[in-house]
Amino acid sequence: PKTQSEPMRVLVTGGSGLIGKAIEQVVKNEGGSLEGEQWIFVSSKEANLVDLQQTKALFEKYRPTHVIHLAAKVGGLYLHMRENLHFLRDNLRINDNVLQTAHEMNVTKVVSCLSSCIFPDKTTYPIDESMIHNGPPHTSNFGYSHAKRMIDIQNRGYFEQYGRRYTAVIPTNVFGPYDNFNLENGHVLSALMHKTYLAKKQGTPLQVWGTGTPRRQFIYSLDAARLFIWVLREYDEIEPIILSVDEDEELPIKDAVLMIAEALDFKGPIEFDTSKSDGQLKKTASNAKLRRYRPNITFTPLSEGIKKTCDWFVQNYDIART
Ligand code: NDP
Repeated sequence: PKTQSEPMRVLVTGGSGLIGKAIEQVVKNEGGSLEGEQWIFVSSKEANLVDLQQTKALFEKYRPTHVIHLAAKVGGLYLHMRENLHFLRDNLRINDNVLQTAHEMNVTKVVSCLSSCIFPDKTTYPIDESMIHNGPPHTSNFGYSHAKRMIDIQNRGYFEQYGRRYTAVIPTNVFGPYDNFNLENGHVLSALMHKTYLAKKQGTPLQVWGTGTPRRQFIYSLDAARLFIWVLREYDEIEPIILSVDEDEELPIKDAVLMIAEALDFKGPIEFDTSKSDGQLKKTASNAKLRRYRPNITFTPLSEGIKKTCDWFVQNYDIART
């Protein structure tokens, strides 16, 4: 195995996505990279990780010592509901190809990415890292969720049989530049930003789906990115760690909508379409483990992260994923 003192060569899968782009920003513009390190960000264009041969060729080409594994087949709620089997199989393959190839190529550490939506549907709050496998996930995206859960199982296996220190993080709702702003398939904040942008341009009311009362924890992608890099360098457990703002930062979607309206200078009426479903009323995740390791970390205030993301979206409308 490589020694720790050798500069890392880090391969980031899913490097073109929301979190990948944020890590790239921290590495390139915030001094997130140390002397001699190499960081390689790849998208599906360079290798389709569902395919084992392409995965192996990618690892042969870059010979990484470390991997941040972000690539995943993700989609909107309705696509998940229609194609649970495809989400299960593609993600099982992507994850097995990446983890097994990393193992065979003697990669020192892999940090993979789970999601807070994989937690049991029926649960007590706050949710913590020990509860991942306590009961079935929500039925709407059971394929994606089970494939993600298997990463944790597989990490445990690589440790027990081979002493590998492969681990995973669990971010709550991430938002920021390079998010998917699609009105139907995008994440909640980015889709709302796009809607607000259009409502302002067209002089129409802003229509928000649901009552606006469900509460969520949002983490700005750049904050999440700095934590990913910390996990890669410092966090030594196999068990996953939740990357989230504090529990009392969980706030109603309605409050975030007002921040978006303010950021985009939208002054028209805001209507809540209560005929649309709300989803879970809260999903409070505990960041107590993160706080134990990093008692002093601060997070970008939500209004500031929203303002930065809205500004990015307006300036980059042509290249944004819409
Ligand atoms: P994005 O949807 O923004 O990006 C997905 C990335 O995966 C893209 O780089 C995409 O490449 C790549 N990818 C997809 N399919 C393949 C494939 N078959 N082969 C190779 N690469 C592929 O994702 P996020 O940045 O939002 O999420 C990254 C990770 O974080 C995912 O694992 C996700 O499950 C997890 N996560 C995200 C959260 C969030 O709120 N955003 C919350 C919790 C977890 P390309 O651009 O070429 O399509």
